[in-house]
Amino acid sequence: MKYLSCRYIEHGMDFEHTRLETCCFTCHSGGGHITLKREYAGESINWEELFEKKRKYRQDHRNGNLTPNCAGCVFLEEKEWDEEDYINYLQFNYWILCNSKCSYCYEVQNKKLFDKIKPYNSVPVIKEMIEKNILRPGGEVSFGGGEPTIAPEFDDLIRLLTANGFKNMRIHSSGIKFSPAIEEAIKKGVLNVVISIDAGCEKTYKTIKRVNAYKKVIENMKKYAMANQTNYGYMTSKYIIIPNVNDNRKEIDMWIDSVVKVGGKWLALDIEDVWYKTNRSIISPYYLDLVNYVLDKANSLNMKIELYDRARGLKEGKNFI
Ligand code: SF4
Ligand code: SF4
Repeated sequence: MKYLSCRYIEHGMDFEHTRLETCCFTCHSGGGHITLKREYAGESINWEELFEKKRKYRQDHRNGNLTPNCAGCVFLEEKEWDEEDYINYLQFNYWILCNSKCSYCYEVQNKKLFDKIKPYNSVPVIKEMIEKNILRPGGEVSFGGGEPTIAPEFDDLIRLLTANGFKNMRIHSSGIKFSPAIEEAIKKGVLNVVISIDAGCEKTYKTIKRVNAYKKVIENMKKYAMANQTNYGYMTSKYIIIPNVNDNRKEIDMWIDSVVKVGGKWLALDIEDVWYKTNRSIISPYYLDLVNYVLDKANSLNMKIELYDRARGLKEGKNFI
């Protein structure tokens, strides 16, 4: 039977700071937050209870009663869904610690709140999921944070997933700490690392990130880029346009030059979230010109370019958030 649902409602699970969710996509009009378990901190899971909850959401979607938090989500699609209970879309967002202090970061801005949260380790439960055939390859695995690479279990987790056939993994990283497990997975062509740099020089980097690590990040971008040069490689360099800080062609040119210099062929672009949301009805055409400038420059250099939600929204004249 065909019905409107999404891969996360059907087969997704997201490890958050203090709970398990269906997905981490909370920035569309419905707002996400479809909770599978509250007050979670890495302990063993009652799978029957968890899948019972998922079955209820799935049944609601099958009956045409869309979960209100899914309303307006871009991941909704109408198709026949596999009715078996398993997870193959996995998201890790439970790491709260970070080695950067980005000026636009929600966690940095709410430090007092995040300081109260205790980090946990997901490796035991992932092993359990693999042993019980609950977690299966074939979908996607994504990592956000905090900064995943500074978690003590991070390299073990990547090696565990790689050894068990996971091929579509994506990690968002500050790029400050080099991870041998990321490099190994890149060599196998099973993981893409997105390095957030937002700058074309040390001075701007320090203004935005408020740490002294520009050279380290460039060095790590190079190691990841050179680990596998197939097609566009497996290292993406990401730039968030921040009004009055890095919103100019000169800085963008320096950023793209630095990516080319380290052997990178894949760019990602976005616009600072809070500014975008506050100003979206009055954003000057200057910013669309800037987005187009990056797109044209990437195309002329035969680089891959990906627009994240705010930049894509501006380009397509739509709201993805
Ligand atoms: S429809 Fe969107 S919000 Fe709902 S579970 Fe899927 S990805 Fe998450
Ligand atoms: S790298 Fe990410 S988690 Fe860390 S401070 Fe920057 S935005 Fe926040």
